[in-house]
Amino acid sequence: METGKKNIRKITKEELSEYLLQADEKKFRTQQIWDWLWVNHAGTFEEMTNLSNSLRQKLSQDFIFPSVKIDHVQISKDGTMKSSFLLHDGNKVEGVLIPTGTRQTACISSQAGCSLNCKFCATGYLERQRNLDFDEIYDEVCLINKQSLESAGKRLTNIVYMGMGEPLLNYQHVMKSIERITSPDGLAMSPRRITLSTSGISKMIKKLGDDKVRFNLALSLHAPNDKQRSQIMPINDKNNIQSLIEALNYFYQQTKNEITFEYILFKDFNDSFKEADELIKLYRQVPVKVINLIEYNPIEQAHYEKPSMEKIKAFEEYLTKHRVNARLRISRGKDIDAACGQLANKG
Ligand code: SAH
Ligand code: SF4
Repeated sequence: METGKKNIRKITKEELSEYLLQADEKKFRTQQIWDWLWVNHAGTFEEMTNLSNSLRQKLSQDFIFPSVKIDHVQISKDGTMKSSFLLHDGNKVEGVLIPTGTRQTACISSQAGCSLNCKFCATGYLERQRNLDFDEIYDEVCLINKQSLESAGKRLTNIVYMGMGEPLLNYQHVMKSIERITSPDGLAMSPRRITLSTSGISKMIKKLGDDKVRFNLALSLHAPNDKQRSQIMPINDKNNIQSLIEALNYFYQQTKNEITFEYILFKDFNDSFKEADELIKLYRQVPVKVINLIEYNPIEQAHYEKPSMEKIKAFEEYLTKHRVNARLRISRGKDIDAACGQLANKG
C-alpha cells in the first residue's frame, strides 16, 4: 500500500469537510462523499458518479481507499453462503450469510485468526495474524448485506460477531464498526439486532457495561465448572466462571441488554445430568435470557464428538423441566465448513 496518504475512511466527517473547503469544493460535497463511503458503500473513487471527474481524481491523489474484496463464495445445500474475504495486506477472513425464515443473519469476523486456542474451534488452531480495522468489519457487513439483497431481495435483519476471532480483544474497532452499522449515516440497523459473542474476558465485559452499549451479549460458556472449562478453553485460567458471573451481572445492571449462554454439547464430556445441574445453578446467578445448546461441529484438529440426538434432546428436556429457557441450535452450512467453529480459510 502507498504510504503517507490517509485512508479516506479513517478521517472524520469534519476532517473531510475541512479538506473539501481547502480544495474550494461546495459544502454539499461532504455529505455526498460521506454517503458514498458509508451508505452506498462504494469500493472505489470512480464509483462516486455524482462527483466531477476532477474531484474524483483529486481524491485518489490525496487519499488511499483500501477495501475488502470477496475472494470466493461457497453456497451450502441449506442456502447458507460463506464468503472468503481478502484484506488489503493479503490476509483472509470468512463471513457467512445465514437465511432462516424471516431472518437474514450475517456472521462476521473481527480478527484474522484467533489467539485463544479453544480446543474445539478450527479458528483457534490458526495463528492470530491481526485485528481487523473497523472499516474492514464494516465492509464485511456491507458485502454480506449486498449478497442478501441479491439472493433474497431483503436486507440483513441480524448481525452476529461469531465468525473468526475474539471481538473483545479488538475492542475499539469492533465498537466503532457497530457505531457505523447502527448510525443513520451508515446501515442504520438497530443495535438490538446485533449480538457479540465472547469467549469471556471479564474486564472487557465490564467495560461494555461502562460504555452502556445497546447490543446483546452471548457468552461461550461450554462447560459448567472451572475444571472442565479450563480443559477446553485456556482463557478460563485467567477469567474463571465466578469472575464472568460478576462481570455479566455488572453488564446487565448497566445496560439491561439480553445475555445468552452458549453451550456446545460434547459427547461424554459435558452432556450428563450432573453437568446440567451445574449449568442450571449458573443460569440462576445471571439474568440469562436463553441458553443456546449448540451442536458440536466436528473439526479435524480435535477428537471431540457430538452426543446422539437422544442424548441432546434429553439434556434439553432436563433443562426445560427445571424451568430453564433452553433451545437447541442446529448449525447450518456444515457441508461447506461454514458452521460455528469451522471457519479456517479452507475452502
Ligand atoms: N470468539 C468468540 C466469537 C467467535 S466463535 C467466542 O468464542 O465466543 C462463535 C461461536 O462458535 C462460539 O460460541 C464458539 O464457542 C462456537 N464454536 C467454536 N467452535 C465450535 C465447534 N466446533 N462447534 C460448534 N460451535 C463452535
Ligand atoms: Fe477464538 Fe472464539 Fe474460536 Fe475460542 S471459540 S478460538 S475465542 S474464535
